[in-house]
Amino acid sequence: MTTWEPVIGLEIHVQLKTRTKMFCRCPVGFGAAPNTQTCPVCLGFPGALPVPNRTAIEWVVKLGLALGCEIAPRAVFARKNYFYPDLPKGYQISQYDLPSCIDGKVLLPTAEGDRVIGIVRAHLEEDAAKTVHVGGRSGRIGGAEASLVDYNRGGTPLVEIVTAPDIRSADEAKRFLQLLRQTIVELGVSDAEMEKGTLRVDANVSVRPEGSDELRTRTEIKNMNSFNFIARGIEAEVERQIGVWESGGEVVQQTYDFDAGSGTLTARRAKEEADDYRYFPEPDLVPVEPERELVERLRTELPELPADRIRRLEEELDLERATVLVTGGLDRLWGETVGAGADRVAAANVIANALVGAGVDPGAVPPSELAKLVEARDRIPRAAFDEAIASLGDPGFSADPYLAQEAVSDTAELEPIVARILEANPGQVEAYRGGKEGLLGFFVGQVMKETDGKANPRVVSELVREKLSA
Ligand SMILES: [Zn+2]
Repeated sequence: MTTWEPVIGLEIHVQLKTRTKMFCRCPVGFGAAPNTQTCPVCLGFPGALPVPNRTAIEWVVKLGLALGCEIAPRAVFARKNYFYPDLPKGYQISQYDLPSCIDGKVLLPTAEGDRVIGIVRAHLEEDAAKTVHVGGRSGRIGGAEASLVDYNRGGTPLVEIVTAPDIRSADEAKRFLQLLRQTIVELGVSDAEMEKGTLRVDANVSVRPEGSDELRTRTEIKNMNSFNFIARGIEAEVERQIGVWESGGEVVQQTYDFDAGSGTLTARRAKEEADDYRYFPEPDLVPVEPERELVERLRTELPELPADRIRRLEEELDLERATVLVTGGLDRLWGETVGAGADRVAAANVIANALVGAGVDPGAVPPSELAKLVEARDRIPRAAFDEAIASLGDPGFSADPYLAQEAVSDTAELEPIVARILEANPGQVEAYRGGKEGLLGFFVGQVMKETDGKANPRVVSELVREKLSA
């Protein structure tokens, strides 16, 4: 039987958070009233001339350097011609055959060592306006009563990043994207939030027999708005393609929308992807020729990148914890908390679980106070610990009042409560004794509830175990 290997490439659009748009002075922003951030340039009035945004050009260079790309000494904007209501000029200005950044690579830390993900190109373009379909189901054009266009987004600077088909699993795609997103955020060029559409990802997927280096027909998956949906969409498509090949069929080049709710892929109509854009160089713009000194200055200004920090932290923790901390932007706080005396692994767990779960801004947390809480986590009541963690970002927070509380560890006090809980749940007791030892957590949880979170969970769990094995 054939073992199949997925071959995945990604196309990523990143909306830059420059103050103004790509070719005019309209502000870039999210959430303003529709059609209030427009001008003759971004509305495509005849005779209006584009002027490139210098910051956007610097930022694509910066991003390209972080992705290990060569920076082209000469990049050219082209007109990508197509007609659509969200494109008032009738063309989109985009770098085409001469992009700003080419031939990069990202080293993705994995359990099997670094995986090399090639970056084919990263180029600058302008975003289209936003079309909203009203009255239909699911916001799609089919069945809608009307379509409204908001030109605020039109002309926002975008970087499109295209990877080589080097990704070999849905999980690897997700890890790559998490790493890329954190890199973009740390460079300060975009908030890269999928929910807001400032980061958008399409996946090209094909499969081949493992060990072969052929490239079979690929399909494209669009409309996935979280990293988990992307992974699920890729998984679904890989499975579908394997089914097609194994039943003697042929995969056909197609674009699919992934519906996360039902987990299904829907093929788009072929005419939606007409692909003859008649590109030609934009006559109103000169080529982009960044000075060598600028490129070199930006290169030396690059911070230590997330991939390098994962590798460094992996030595002190493990790959999974290092990845969660770095891609969550939590590793600086972790380092300072450990520096203030906390245990490495305990600090990593508290930060990645309790702190993130409580929605606390890591930048607002005093590391010395967090270190005290990490140290006391088994000694103080769970309720006090949770409350302290949730308040860590408050100005002037002190852990001391919480540390003064002691969890109830007195077995004489806890024993009757444990006995009562066991008596009240005879079915679970029987199941536990019959081998369902996972129920231990249930009993401990009940006791914690009974004591308003004041019991020491470690002592409770010892007591429960003792009583149940008696
Ligand atoms: Zn404008």
